[in-house]
Amino acid sequence: MRRVAKRTILDVKPYIPGKPIDEVKRELGLKDVIKLASNENPYGPSPKVFQAIKTAAKEIHRYPDGGCFYLRQALVRHLKVSPEQLIFGNGSDELIVLAIRAFVEEGDEVIIAKPSFLIYDIASQIAGAKIKSIPLIDFYYDLKAMKAAVTEKTKIIFLGNPDNPAGTYLTQAQVEDFLKDLRSDILIFLDEAYFEYVHAKDYVKSTGLINRYKNVFVSRTFSKMYGLAGLRVGYGIGSPEVVDLLNRIREPFNVNSLAQTAALTALADQSYYKKLARMVEVERKSLYKEFKRLKLSYIQSCTNFILIEVNDSTTVAQQLLKRGIIIRDMSHWGLTKYIRVTIGTQKENRRLIKALEEIL
Ligand SMILES: *Cc1c(COP(=O)(O)O)cnc(C)c1O
Repeated sequence: MRRVAKRTILDVKPYIPGKPIDEVKRELGLKDVIKLASNENPYGPSPKVFQAIKTAAKEIHRYPDGGCFYLRQALVRHLKVSPEQLIFGNGSDELIVLAIRAFVEEGDEVIIAKPSFLIYDIASQIAGAKIKSIPLIDFYYDLKAMKAAVTEKTKIIFLGNPDNPAGTYLTQAQVEDFLKDLRSDILIFLDEAYFEYVHAKDYVKSTGLINRYKNVFVSRTFSKMYGLAGLRVGYGIGSPEVVDLLNRIREPFNVNSLAQTAALTALADQSYYKKLARMVEVERKSLYKEFKRLKLSYIQSCTNFILIEVNDSTTVAQQLLKRGIIIRDMSHWGLTKYIRVTIGTQKENRRLIKALEEIL
């Protein structure tokens, strides 16, 4: 069947997700395994979510609301945007795929930082796009080089903000400057999966940008800080024109009913998440202190994950795995000297530090 498959998919390397905890337990015969690999929130969602899901479960024989009416209403109030500026996805991953499907034809160009979130590359490759990879400079975006890479064939520029795996962010001034004299028919895909963790005053206020730039599209997710990764729900904010285009190719029931209820309930419990974001900040500071003590270099992060420099990422990842700790070996991203760890609970982080101390 390879012979008749779409030519564009033949060289695609499938995305390798972080190993699930149960799989590692089975494979290595370990009882106590922790996962600090996929930037999930280790505390889980607002406790109110569980009761809401239980109630909503009584209706799972019905199709979900394809328009996400209640979640949309809630976000309209929360973000102060209009309903036509919102679109929902089966995770924000789906919005990346929809954007590429809507705008990129074979031979078109997309601009992506390197290293960055792998789905941008994979989905672009499937579409037959020519990918222009722009290396980060000291783990920050090189916006000048990204702009210089624009041609008449450029359709989308991906800006992960903060980006994964670097954990660094772009400021309002940088993004404004980037947009200023850029062609207005290039979609700027601003991926804000970790938006809720960023407290810097100069961070981009993207909902303001959307009203001024019709080509800016922002994606966010309930998978990360909101703790709903297993349910798959994300949303996009953009001009009604862009949202309408993506809506045409969206599957009618792409966000399941339990996910809609969970997201709505989580969104209403802001005080739980404010506390949680503070806890992550405390843990991040305490990890930095430990890394310094162990003479480990790391990249300053504004998210719930950190890149740490080691001698050989694959070896360190394997040794941590043997001790029941799943982290990300960054060699898949071309960073053979880095591992990425998600900030866990205090107990998990202590275990990580103890293991690193043993290994190094
Ligand atoms: C995790 C992540 C996402 C997508 O998460 P979903 O679960 O699909 O919403 C998007 N972008 C980046 C940079 C991420 O790290």
